[in-house]
Amino acid sequence: MTTSRILDGIAIASQIKAEVAAEVAGLKASGITPGLAVILVGEVPASQIYVRSKVKTCGELGIFSELLTPPESITTDEMLDLVDDLNDRDDIDGILIQLPLPRHVDTKRLLEAVDPDKDVDGFHPVNVGRLQSGQPALAPCTPAGIMEILHRSHLPMAGQNAVVIGRSDIVGKPAAMMLLNASATVTVCHSKTADLPGITRNADILVAAIGRPGYVSPDMVKPGATLIDVGINRITDAAEVERFFPNDPDRAATFAKRGSVVVGDIHPAAFAHAGAYTPVPGGVGALTIAMLMHNTIKAAKLRRGLDSSRGLVMEKK
Ligand code: NAP
Repeated sequence: MTTSRILDGIAIASQIKAEVAAEVAGLKASGITPGLAVILVGEVPASQIYVRSKVKTCGELGIFSELLTPPESITTDEMLDLVDDLNDRDDIDGILIQLPLPRHVDTKRLLEAVDPDKDVDGFHPVNVGRLQSGQPALAPCTPAGIMEILHRSHLPMAGQNAVVIGRSDIVGKPAAMMLLNASATVTVCHSKTADLPGITRNADILVAAIGRPGYVSPDMVKPGATLIDVGINRITDAAEVERFFPNDPDRAATFAKRGSVVVGDIHPAAFAHAGAYTPVPGGVGALTIAMLMHNTIKAAKLRRGLDSSRGLVMEKK
């Protein structure tokens, strides 16, 4: 029986955060305190939790953070004024607008109003273009985290068949671009893809960013492949929990305590066929805030014309 290697996102995130903290100390010694502004509109509980942990992590690493909490009723124009102020402030290196925004606010217009050099989410079209053309860019945090997992786990990418399921602007497309920049041979799949299993069975690296619990079944996986599971799906049905996690006392205990468990986009039974895989939770999701912190110091350096490359893999062409 082969043993699949677990790619521990929590350990890799800790390593990156320790590196960021050391860099912040270095920047502070030369009189620079990196600063992140987070805009949280209204009272969305999930967003409040995410924002709280972003602000807390800033504090732990020595990054200045400012939380702005306009009410749900804020207009697009008022939000644009807020963003303009932050664009102009010298103590703010990164601006993060927590999504989703209320429906009446024009999200696209706002994201494009953020100064690309302060766009720590990497969503601005200028950063998308920079990433594509191999220029120093602020890259989206989740796919950047995937690249760190692969790189730091010494998993080869050059010449490998990489298949990305999902073509969203925040995960699938940038992940595909970063894998291409790392010289993988990349196929991007989506809901209209014909014969998806025929394609995934050829993947040395399979990235699943779909948003459907356990969608990738064991028969869709090439034995020995590296499986990167981006999905975060909360399941609340006891029968479904048993179907995904039969005879798993830990999950059963979590379900009994919280009334839900989290499953990725890859069926847990598929992991037994993998050479290596990211667990859910504790895999890709663990990297996102670490990469946000990385982007904040990168933005602080880029704005001041300092060398921003820490040798992270997505920054190599
Ligand atoms: P999204 O915007 O909803 O995109 C989903 C993609 O999956 C789309 O491109 C869609 O294809 C494709 N898809 C849907 N059903 C499919 C099917 N049956 N076969 C093949 N492709 C299919 O989702 P997202 O924002 O990229 O997020 C994906 C997952 O990652 C979610 O579970 C989300 O919670 C998770 N996520 C995690 C993190 C993190 O770890 N920090 C961050 C972001 C997202 P079409 O384009 O054809 O519709």
